Amino acid sequence: DRQAAALTVEDLSVHYGGVCAVRSIGFTVAPGQSVGIIGANGAGKTSTLKALMGLVPRSGGRIRFGDTDLTRVKARDIVRHGIGYVPEGRHVFPGLTVEKNLMLGAYARSWRGPGTRETLEEVYDLFPVLGEMRSRLAGALSGGQQQMLAVGRALMAKPRLMLLDEPSMGLSPKLIEDILAVLVRLREEGLSMLLVEQNAKLTFEATSSCVVMENGEVAMTGTSRELRDDVQVRRIYLGL
Ligand code: ATP
Repeated sequence: DRQAAALTVEDLSVHYGGVCAVRSIGFTVAPGQSVGIIGANGAGKTSTLKALMGLVPRSGGRIRFGDTDLTRVKARDIVRHGIGYVPEGRHVFPGLTVEKNLMLGAYARSWRGPGTRETLEEVYDLFPVLGEMRSRLAGALSGGQQQMLAVGRALMAKPRLMLLDEPSMGLSPKLIEDILAVLVRLREEGLSMLLVEQNAKLTFEATSSCVVMENGEVAMTGTSRELRDDVQVRRIYLGL
């Protein structure tokens, strides 16, 4: 079923050989909630998302999504549990059309709901430019359009929770505003989100609470509003 579910992460660690990238972190994303992870380059944000998706080995901890224990579930099966993933750097298939890229996202659907066509129309409604360019090759799209395609493709699987890794990376301020508007709309539609960003300003606007990571650990947690107004956070992440 597509009931909203909470993501609960406890004591999660990631090691690359002898290097500890994530050290016993924990946080929760409540149903319908939008949570951000901010932190400097190398703080462990991407490794955290990859560990949730089963893309890097988890060296400890527990991951639950609703009633399901995902701790030992493999990457290809995670999506079937209703978790969508938009990796850093987009990774669309440049030689396939926009629509084909979107349809590939639908293969992860393992449940019976509204038809794929209907979901495709929903994605085109959210990103009109993708509808206009549906027959173009993805490789011909601008960076911002490819980012939208990556988000749209993840939505094709009808996730209950979306993990987004730096959707603002490399985008112009105008396109960052566009992405923000989409994230806000998805949040209003009740989709749970975990957003990893170096752009703290975007993150504070798109989320209700945030985890600040530093050297693989949780340095601070709070509501996005509290953190936005925190003197230390402002100095370190907003350069104010
Ligand atoms: P960024 O914003 O640059 O992606 P991040 O906060 O997402 O930074 P991670 O990419 O998770 O941080 O990296 C955390 C630490 O793990 C860094 O010290 C990084 O050098 C190291 N690391 C990441 N991937 C690997 C890997 N495949 N092998 C070895 N070390 C890695």
